[in-house]
Amino acid sequence: MLTKTPKQCWEDFVQFVEDCCTATEFHNWIAPIKVSESTENELILEVPNIFVQEYLLENFKQHLQNFIPIKEKGQLALSFVIATPQKRPESKAKPSPLPEPKGQEKYKQILNPQYTFEHFIEGPANQFVKSAALGIAMHPGKSYNPLFIHGGVGLGKTHLLHAIGHYAKAHHKRLKVHCITTEAFINDLVDHLRSKSIYKMKRFYRGLDLLLVDDIQFLQSRLNFEEEFCNTFEALINQNKQIVVACDKPPGQLKLSERMIARMEWGLVANVGIPDLETRVAILQYKAEQKGLKLSHKVAFFIAERIFHNVRQLEGALNRLTAYSRMMGLDVTEEIVESTLSELFQRAPSKRVSVDLILKSVATMFGVRVSDLCGNSRTKNIAFPRQVAMYLAKEMINDSLMKLAASFGGKTHSTLLHAWKKITEQISKDETLRRQIQMARRNLES
Ligand code: ADP
Ligand code: MG
Repeated sequence: MLTKTPKQCWEDFVQFVEDCCTATEFHNWIAPIKVSESTENELILEVPNIFVQEYLLENFKQHLQNFIPIKEKGQLALSFVIATPQKRPESKAKPSPLPEPKGQEKYKQILNPQYTFEHFIEGPANQFVKSAALGIAMHPGKSYNPLFIHGGVGLGKTHLLHAIGHYAKAHHKRLKVHCITTEAFINDLVDHLRSKSIYKMKRFYRGLDLLLVDDIQFLQSRLNFEEEFCNTFEALINQNKQIVVACDKPPGQLKLSERMIARMEWGLVANVGIPDLETRVAILQYKAEQKGLKLSHKVAFFIAERIFHNVRQLEGALNRLTAYSRMMGLDVTEEIVESTLSELFQRAPSKRVSVDLILKSVATMFGVRVSDLCGNSRTKNIAFPRQVAMYLAKEMINDSLMKLAASFGGKTHSTLLHAWKKITEQISKDETLRRQIQMARRNLES
């Protein structure tokens, strides 16, 4: 009887595994593995990425030893190569690609034509996330996967998500791109569960090249759908298909399973922050020009100083001004801004919190001196209040980190950022500190 070749041994192994693990597990982790080369003495497997290789070795080592020939020194006659991205499209060609089911189209989010990289104004708070997004759009599936974009409302998460979609579609014509909100994904899932056609949905999602998922925080309130989401996610990542996720908070703050959070953190987590004053001015001027509204730098500055929570509010302000100026046939002046937008202003500049005020308030709260807070002492009873003051400064004052840090006796922006991170983390664990800080904020704002 002829002995089996390593390739046949592998096929036996695959059959065995298919019988002993769940269909999802098999589909996600084992099915993507291909035999790259099989000689008499060795089997070379092609895996889409290192995670699949590790999964195989960690979970099936014992079984592999039963199936795959062993070398003289007792190791498996098995080695791995990571598939090169260019090769994959041919090798993954499915025997009978099905036409795109109509169901998914129903939920697909149409990419907003305005949400492109060209229309996205960069500044220090969003430069990093923008270049990560552009990198992904240029080379989907080849760098960080997933890209997790998080930040507050109206700061451009959806804009970036759509920009990636536009760019990828324009530059990689054959890519299957799908943009969906988490809510729509869940509705799609519910529809398919109802009509018992879940396999269609799976096939559709798993055949995508770029999946853009908006507002994943919505999954928190629909936990029974988390597993299917996670499976889809793994299936795509394991084939090096690109996923981009937008969320209103970082993965660690989501009330989701550890598995799901870990998946979200697999690639790159990037924050889109509140644009600083200069960026807000640039956004206002750019958007005004697009609307054909004349807006001087001085007036743009006047608005940007008073509306600083997010970009959507800036757009709202511009819409109002445009309507007003058209109706009245007037150019926009500071007086017109004042009378048209006053209720949108977030805080009168005269009441604005300064670093000095924060230092005084924190010094009183902790019974230390302002000069200590600005000094270099690292003893805990000084360093901790200093970090609290730095945290408050970053949270309450819309100025560059460099400037803020300098007001603490010439500290660097990384010291300030470190302090902010540390206190943010501590607040999430320490209720008393959270209350203390909340109180300090209220006092400062009143
Ligand atoms: P999010 O999804 O974070 O809530 P959006 O992406 O919907 O916010 O952005 C809100 C609005 O602000 C959109 O009209 C978007 O085009 C605009 N916007 C946000 N950030 C920028 C930016 N950096 N440059 C230009 N427009 C922006
Ligand atoms: Mg959004």
